[in-house]
Amino acid sequence: MKKRRASILVSTGDIMKLLLATSNLHKTLELKAILKSLFKPFDLYSLRDLKDYTPPKETEDSFEGNAKLKAIHAAKFSGMLTISDDSGLVVPSLDGAPGVFSARFAGDAATDKENINKLLEEMKNLEGPKRNAYYSCTLCLATPEKVIKTVTGVCEGRLLDTPSGAGGFGYDSLFVKHDYNHTFAEITEDIKLKISHRRRAFDKIKNTLEAEFHCTTL
Ligand code: IMP
Repeated sequence: MKKRRASILVSTGDIMKLLLATSNLHKTLELKAILKSLFKPFDLYSLRDLKDYTPPKETEDSFEGNAKLKAIHAAKFSGMLTISDDSGLVVPSLDGAPGVFSARFAGDAATDKENINKLLEEMKNLEGPKRNAYYSCTLCLATPEKVIKTVTGVCEGRLLDTPSGAGGFGYDSLFVKHDYNHTFAEITEDIKLKISHRRRAFDKIKNTLEAEFHCTTL
């Protein structure tokens, strides 16, 4: 693997530099918005900003395994403090599917719509509590030298039998969080960012960013 820098780029002046190890635009926007709501400004990068970067194959069978793999690979390549996000939807009555295959449930280059249709087909005979599901998000914080911390946040709910709403991404138009009446594609972005699996994971890692990397919370 090509290594770009020998030393870790942590900050320029007062601004923290941080690489978000994802090229998924929706995830990048959500991660940026959550960071913005918790900390003083970061100098944020995503994999889209790295030239010649080839992401590793997600070969692990857990969110944690894949999050670590993605964070270490990107941190080593860039020389930067890095956070990766490996996330997905888990349906216990389908033995945990789509799980780590959430992005490619209907095939390697599947669209969100194709993934949703496959999920609806597999759930067509499931009713009541069998339609329960949860989103899981594992964040891994790494430097080029080592993994600093890995945390997981979950958000529990149920899946509708027809998509509803135009916001969000992935399976959001099917997912209704417990105690809510609207899908993640119907609620505002601001609300999703306060209650999501991604936000819950950040709540578990923010102390480490503050204590070890001097990120200043708002
Ligand atoms: P990853 O890029 O391998 O971590 O796969 C992430 C996939 O999980 C996405 O492409 C979506 O299908 C699903 N996913 C993760 N987080 C969310 C979310 O917040 N809303 C909807 N789908 C999500």
